[in-house]
Amino acid sequence: MTSVKGTKTTAAGTRTEPMTLAFDVTVSSVRQLSPTFRRVTLGGYSLRDFGVRGDTLDLRIKLMIPSLAEDGTVVPLPPFNMEEAGWYQEWLAMDPSVRGAMRTYTVREARLDGVYPEIDIDFVMHFDADGNGGPAANWAQAARPGDAITLIGPNNRAAHCFTAEIYSGIEWRPGMAQRVLLAGDETAIPAISAILESLPSYMTGHAFLEVPEAGDFLELTSAADVEITWLARGASIGRSRPHGELLQQAVRNAVPVPGWVGIKSDNGGAGPEPEDVNVDEEVLWETPARMETAAIAATKNPDMPAGAMPFYAWIAGEAAVIKDMRRYLVRDVGIDRKQVAFMGYWRQGKAEG
Ligand SMILES: Cc1cc2nc3c(=O)[nH]c(=O)nc-3n(C[C@H](O)[C@H](O)[C@H](O)COP(=O)(O)OP(=O)(O)OC[C@H]3O[C@@H](n4cnc5c(N)ncnc54)[C@H](O)[C@@H]3O)c2cc1C
Repeated sequence: MTSVKGTKTTAAGTRTEPMTLAFDVTVSSVRQLSPTFRRVTLGGYSLRDFGVRGDTLDLRIKLMIPSLAEDGTVVPLPPFNMEEAGWYQEWLAMDPSVRGAMRTYTVREARLDGVYPEIDIDFVMHFDADGNGGPAANWAQAARPGDAITLIGPNNRAAHCFTAEIYSGIEWRPGMAQRVLLAGDETAIPAISAILESLPSYMTGHAFLEVPEAGDFLELTSAADVEITWLARGASIGRSRPHGELLQQAVRNAVPVPGWVGIKSDNGGAGPEPEDVNVDEEVLWETPARMETAAIAATKNPDMPAGAMPFYAWIAGEAAVIKDMRRYLVRDVGIDRKQVAFMGYWRQGKAEG
């Protein structure tokens, strides 16, 4: 067992549940969904303790990708105590050739009520021209049924405790918004897909999904009146458009700059210049903590036609692309940052961690 699980007794004698736990699971199956996406299903009785209150939406987890010894065998992850606040530092201090790598992924689907609980993770198979991938892409490429891995995710006992905070591994919080914009590259497709499946029929808006090639267009279902547009960079026909170019264009078309900007704006935009983020040094992660009704009323654009519903956008993908879209939506269009979650899921040329 990787971690010590269970409740913790505080100094005051009350028992608290940790929000996250480590789960030892094994690969149940592997399926190549398309040229880019490889679905790895992870199962284990430990997942009976996994879960959040309600839909998993864009729920993120950490996968502890194991190291391989020179003979190709898996180096077992040494035990570390998830109950302690400093578990991450404890793990980080271990020899990298022993502790392996920690990577962030989305739960595409969770089936936790069956006899044998399982979750699906959809991995982007990214490899450079020499065929080298990161630890997670390599692991998914080689994964076989029975392979063991540890993941860190939500403790469902904490989630169902009525005093539980909202689990921080979910960012999708549209509040009262009925018009939504979802935009992301291939790494965000699992999250966007799960969000779309959960949306009620009264939601309207757009979802733009950029992927390497048309063969990566996956089947999506949603009860909502959200127009879903797949965008293919054209990798399979050897004319790949730059990463994010199609996505940015689609967002610009769907959310144009207000007409008055050219006439009376001081800075050439409808909103303030967002502070700069050096995406090579920092993680671009700007998400509204919570969309309360009052906050929406306060941020409502006075030019919004009467009866128009508040708007919420969720945008994730390569950090430099997300940074450009943040500047466009906040400064050029004037959308309040409380209405948008901007998340740099990965950085071109930089390993996670
Ligand atoms: C909240 C969250 C949820 C995520 N969900 C998913 C998910 O469900 N599925 C998924 O596939 N990814 C997801 N990602 C992105 C994933 O964590 C990164 O792509 C991660 O870097 C992959 O790890 P790696 O070990 O394969 O590569 P790393 O070791 O991190 O990187 C090695 C090299 O590969 C490049 N690289 C990394 N990712 C990509 C990519 N997608 N395309 C091209 N080059 C890349 C890096 O720039 C670097 O040069 C998510 C990220 C976050 C923050």
